[in-house]
Amino acid sequence: REAQTCIANQASRKSLNAFISLAGGASILRKAEAADTQRDRGPLHGRLIAIKDNICTSELPTTSASGILKTFTSPYDATVVKKIQKAGGIVSGKTNLDEFGMGSHSKCSYFGAVTQNDASRGEALSAGGSSGGSAVAVATGQCWAALGTDTGGSVRLPAAYTGIIGFKPSYGLVSRWGVLAYANSLDTVGVLAQSTQHAEAVFEAINGYDEQDPTSLTPTTRTRISNLLSQRRRNSSLRIGVPLEYNIAELSPEVRCAWIRALELLRNQGHTILPVSIPTTKRALSAYYVLAPAEASSNLAKYDGVRYGTRAEGPDGAEGVLFSKTRGQGFGDEVKRRVLLGAYTLSAEAIDNYFIQAQKVRRLVQQDFDRVFSLANPLLDVRRTGRQNTDERVDVLVCPTAPTLPPTLESLEKQSPVEAYVSDIFTVPASLAGLPAVSVPFKESQGQEGNIGIQVIAQYGDDNLTLDVARIIE
Ligand code: GLN
Repeated sequence: REAQTCIANQASRKSLNAFISLAGGASILRKAEAADTQRDRGPLHGRLIAIKDNICTSELPTTSASGILKTFTSPYDATVVKKIQKAGGIVSGKTNLDEFGMGSHSKCSYFGAVTQNDASRGEALSAGGSSGGSAVAVATGQCWAALGTDTGGSVRLPAAYTGIIGFKPSYGLVSRWGVLAYANSLDTVGVLAQSTQHAEAVFEAINGYDEQDPTSLTPTTRTRISNLLSQRRRNSSLRIGVPLEYNIAELSPEVRCAWIRALELLRNQGHTILPVSIPTTKRALSAYYVLAPAEASSNLAKYDGVRYGTRAEGPDGAEGVLFSKTRGQGFGDEVKRRVLLGAYTLSAEAIDNYFIQAQKVRRLVQQDFDRVFSLANPLLDVRRTGRQNTDERVDVLVCPTAPTLPPTLESLEKQSPVEAYVSDIFTVPASLAGLPAVSVPFKESQGQEGNIGIQVIAQYGDDNLTLDVARIIE
C-alpha cells in the first residue's frame, strides 16, 4: 500500500526532477510482496528508500549527476546500500544532486535542476543541495526515506529548505565504501526523513564498522565511545549552547525569529540556554572552500576517459588531448571551477598560503568545538589543556541550518559562486570537525512562508543526543 502511494507520487511529481533513475513500479511491488512473505522482517521491512546518485548500486546507474558518468553502472553495491537491503529496505531509485555533490541548490546537474513547488508564491524554489533530489523525494512522498551525502551541509541544507529531517552522523560511523568521493576527509553518508524516528531507524541500519573503508571507525573505538557515553551523568535538563557568532548580519529576520522561538521552546521544557563562542565560524567557511576543492581536484583525476568516464570522440593523439577533451566535455562548470581551484591551492606556489593555512583553520574549528562541549572529544587525549570551566560547557549547540529561507531558482541566476557559498556558513563548521548534526524543520508562526531548519550539533560520537534534541524541537 505504502509502496503504491510512493510509486503514484513518483509519477505525478516527475516535474520536480528528484530522480535520475527509478527502479520501476513493477520491480518495487514485486520486492514489496516478496518482503511481505518473509518470516524475519528487518527494521526497514518493505520501506522504499531512495539513494543519492553518487552512491553505487548494481541494479541502477550511478551518474553523480555528471555528464562524464552518464553511462556508468557500478558492478557492486555500496556498503550502505547492502545494509539498507539487509534491513528489509527497497531501493526505489537514484536521486538527483549537484554534480559530484558540489553545490547548495541541486541546480548544477547534467540532468537539470531539482525544484520544489511553492504553492503560495507560485515560483520554483531551490530544493537546497547537493542532496536536493533525496530531500524532495522524501518531502513529496516519493519514498519513505532517503540517503544523501553531506560534505559541507548537503544533507542538512536541503532538509531545511524542504521542511524535513536531515541527519549527518559523526564522520567515520557510516561506511563510505562505494560512495563516490568528493572531499573524502569530510564526506559522510546521511539520512533524509519525514521524522526523527524514521531517520533514526535508517541510521541504525547503516551505522557500523566496514573493513573496506579505511576511515571507518573501528569496533574498539566504538566500544570506547559508548563506554564514555554511558559513564556520563545525564541530567534530564540539558545545557544548550547558542553560538553567538552565528548571529550574522546576513541572517534573515524570519530565521532569527525561528531560532529564538526554538530556544524558548527548549527553555520552557526546563533546559538551560547558554551563550557560547565559536570564534572561527567565518574563517571555517573560507577554509572549507579551500580544502574541499583541493581534495576534489585529486579525487576527480580518475575521470579521464580511460580509468573512468565517458570518453570524448576523436583521435587519442598528442599527449593529454584525450584527457582534456574528455574532461572538458564531461564536467560541468562548477566542477571545473573546483578542480582548477584545488589544483591551484595544492600547487607548489600556493600550497603554503592556502592549503596549509586552511588545514590550520580546520584544527582551530575543532578546538573551538572541543572547548564548548562538556563531553571530551573521544578521539583526543582527554588530558589536554584549554577546556572551559565545566559551568560554561554545554551538551549541544542549537542554531539555524541556513541563513535564509529557500531562495527562488530565478534569483540564483544572478548570484556569484561566492554568494552561493555563504548558504553553507552554518553547516560547514560541524563538517570540518566531523561532528554529528541534524536539521529539524521548525515553524516560527502559523502563517510562515517557506521552510526553516534548526540545527542541533553535538560532540563527536554523541549522535543520539542530537536526535534526542531534534525530537524535542520537531
Ligand atoms: N555546498 C557545499 C559544496 O558545494 C556542500 C556540498 C556537500 O556537502 N556535498 O561543497
